[in-house]
Amino acid sequence: MDVFYGGGLINQDFLCKFAEENRKELDTMKETLIQIPILIKQEKELTPEEARLLDEARRATYRSYSPYSHFSVGAAVELADGTIVTGSNQENAAYPSGLCAERTAVFYAGSRYPDTPIRRICIAARDTEGNPLLRPIAPCGACRQVLLETEQRAGSPIEVLLHGTEGIYCLRSIRDLLPLCFDESFL
Ligand SMILES: [Zn+2]
Repeated sequence: MDVFYGGGLINQDFLCKFAEENRKELDTMKETLIQIPILIKQEKELTPEEARLLDEARRATYRSYSPYSHFSVGAAVELADGTIVTGSNQENAAYPSGLCAERTAVFYAGSRYPDTPIRRICIAARDTEGNPLLRPIAPCGACRQVLLETEQRAGSPIEVLLHGTEGIYCLRSIRDLLPLCFDESFL
């Protein structure tokens, strides 16, 4: 079996041999396992607050400006006082100038309500045909990094709801979205 590794194709046999050779050299080598608890709910199992946030995230997908990808994302954040702020992906002909729905919502919340922590975030999306996604939408790495710092800045976990029609992934904290994260503790 061939696998992609470090940007190139490497034969699986080579990887096994590589690991085996290292094992001989370094008998202190250990393995660690990172487990992330994810609760998978159906829509009818959401709390009223979660259901409301999902509605807002879905509604936000219709305010997406995505003429290039035709992929519409909506994010809704619920603040500690119950206020809901939404965002959608905003694209640009100069691609990197656009911004994801998650960061649009979180940056707006941070600039409008800097002292109110975010309690939870819900993300929903529609595909290029305009249909809701089957699999739960996964935030990009840059958004995870921004959400992590937002959570750490407030000092309280942000719950995450990732919508898919086959189930809604519920995570207890942004930290669960970004294991082995880089944060201010390294600086
Ligand atoms: Zn993103």
